Amino acid sequence: MRIGIGYDSHRFVEGRKLILGGIEIPFDKGLLGHSDGDALCHAITDAVIGALGKGDIGKHFPDSDKRWKDASSIVMLKQIIDLASAEGYAVAWIDSVIITERPKLTVYVDRMKQALLHAGIPSGIINIKAKTNEKMGFIGREEGLAAQAVCLLVPAKL
Ligand code: MG
Repeated sequence: MRIGIGYDSHRFVEGRKLILGGIEIPFDKGLLGHSDGDALCHAITDAVIGALGKGDIGKHFPDSDKRWKDASSIVMLKQIIDLASAEGYAVAWIDSVIITERPKLTVYVDRMKQALLHAGIPSGIINIKAKTNEKMGFIGREEGLAAQAVCLLVPAKL
């Protein structure tokens, strides 16, 4: 068994869509980033990469690479899930949390889980939580949001 942790944060900006967990969420701001800025997908991706012992998301998807400009983070996550399969591992469980004052995200969790199926993560092996930061710090000031994830990998059944 292998375990990995992932963390990501992105700044809110006007004029971008808010993409989290592979879905668009109605909001007056989006997340600044080289890709679509999907902090939840990035935290999960880093958790899987960590469990594989293969560095971090920046090593696999460099900012300098035009291929990942405005890229779907679901596609990036799928690439890493496929890498795990190629290395003989399957995802047994992912737990995650998105931390933001606004918007309220709990009502979108089921749709995020459905979208993550496109990355090769069935809804039965992932938990997504949403919470605020009690108005403290950069999240409390609504400058951006953060996400954390842990991933458990087990040897794939042959
Ligand atoms: Mg990121």
